[in-house]
Amino acid sequence: MLGLMQDHPLLISSLLEFAEHHHGDGQIVSRRVEGDIHRYTWADVARRARQVANALDADGAAFSDRIATLAWNGYRHLEMYYGVSGSGRVLHTINPRLHPDQIAWIANHAEDSMLAFDLSFLPLVQAVHARCPNVRKWIALCDADKLPQDSGVPNLVSYEAWMGQQSTDYTWPTFDENSASSMCYTSGTTGNPKAALYSHRSSVLHAYAAALPDVMCLSARDSVLPVVPMFHVNAWGIPYSAAMVGCKLVFPGPALDGKSVYELIESEKVSFAAGVPTVWQMMLGHMKPGGLRFSTLKRTVIGGSACPPAMIRAFQDDYGVEVLHAWGMTEMSPLGTLCTLKNKHMEMSPEDRLAIRLKQGRAIFGVDMKIVDGDGQELPWDGKAYGDLHVKGPWVVREYFKGEGGDPLVNGWFPTGDVATIDADGFLQITDRSKDVIKSGGEWISSIDIENIAVAHPGIAMAACIGVHHPKWDERPILVAVKRPGAEVTREELLKFYEGKTAKWQIPDDIVFADAIPLGATGKILKTKLRETLKDYKLPGL
Ligand code: AMP
Repeated sequence: MLGLMQDHPLLISSLLEFAEHHHGDGQIVSRRVEGDIHRYTWADVARRARQVANALDADGAAFSDRIATLAWNGYRHLEMYYGVSGSGRVLHTINPRLHPDQIAWIANHAEDSMLAFDLSFLPLVQAVHARCPNVRKWIALCDADKLPQDSGVPNLVSYEAWMGQQSTDYTWPTFDENSASSMCYTSGTTGNPKAALYSHRSSVLHAYAAALPDVMCLSARDSVLPVVPMFHVNAWGIPYSAAMVGCKLVFPGPALDGKSVYELIESEKVSFAAGVPTVWQMMLGHMKPGGLRFSTLKRTVIGGSACPPAMIRAFQDDYGVEVLHAWGMTEMSPLGTLCTLKNKHMEMSPEDRLAIRLKQGRAIFGVDMKIVDGDGQELPWDGKAYGDLHVKGPWVVREYFKGEGGDPLVNGWFPTGDVATIDADGFLQITDRSKDVIKSGGEWISSIDIENIAVAHPGIAMAACIGVHHPKWDERPILVAVKRPGAEVTREELLKFYEGKTAKWQIPDDIVFADAIPLGATGKILKTKLRETLKDYKLPGL
């Protein structure tokens, strides 16, 4: 017997319709590429997203056509999110931090038929357009009078001229909720990048989950700043969850330096912000010297890389901001776990509670997880046994776009490539990427643990731990460290700092000071590049 409830597909357009009807006057604030602040409402987003849909119809874009963006977080990008996906096309967000060769490769692989870009990325477009024969229209996200002349880019239009003339009337189509809605290529540290292809169903379910109290706890009372880019995994789904709850949205545009982000948080009374550790590092670095405080920020979700305990402490103890440590990946839309406490933890001392908060957290309903050993045998949830982390759920990839890389699943589970422990309360702790873990004398050393200790030193701004070959131990850890401006810290001092904080055999064999550590397109440390730079490095005494 089937249930007798109405059958409505879960479609991204329904999120925007809801925001328009119930939170039409809710504000969307964007710092524009031009530097000024733009303000309008959810009703305006809905009206203009319908114009985008009409413009796509007028251009003959077919159902499931890939429409690409190379854009910062801003209102026009939001309109593309809804106009493209809502009308049945697939929004392909491209990471502008990638090399032009990779961008051209990705645009061709995705068979993008149009590409909309912020003017900051005109040089990128000029570098790739001749190599993207499928792209029949290039849309500059700007006013008609700002359209660059003599850019050399063919079929170039301004966004406002392209969609501004269109009718604001449009009926969002109804179709199978399993249809593709958007796509995002993985960082592709090895081989060519592969694309996760999200569906309307997976995106709407993820939006529900992301808004839950034990996840981002989003509500109509929040002013939300996604510093996480809309060009990578849909800004952790915030553009969708925000419409679902009708919160105020604040977009930082290209200004991601500490000062600009801090000022935006203050001026727009932001209560919740989301970003990777490097962004918050810059902001805290800006705030500390001037003794600046937050007047409205309550919580921040930090993920994408391990959040150093020192950062969690600084937010909590110095600024009274709750840090929600999160773990996820492109293949998971991206949310997998988020660290919030349980009822039984409320009586604990602040120090004990902090020890839990440092972990990456508990699974969100919709994500199943397990850790397995090299033979695929499930390991216990005791907080000690570590193994390969496998996941499954309705917003986890089943297969990559065009079947690239073959079947990624192992008995229905997606192997994340991360190594983790899970404790008896279900709290996950990421030990490492499996390829970054350091194998020393048959034991494993977590590069994340070694880095976290280093950045707790007041003189260290950033640190990366890698394994180097050792004739006896197989591998030994060394630490590449960047000093804070003006800080005086020696190799010996930093090595001494490790004493008592980790087992002796886990202390790095050497410290290499550097001016900078290479970061990839998503802000993660590029350990492949570090290893290459240090390929001729010899451990002391060898
Ligand atoms: P991406 O698909 O580019 O978003 O990268 C996903 C990967 O980032 C994960 O598989 C992890 O290796 C890493 N990652 C994400 N969040 C965290 C976190 N909170 N702690 C440690 N690693 C993380």
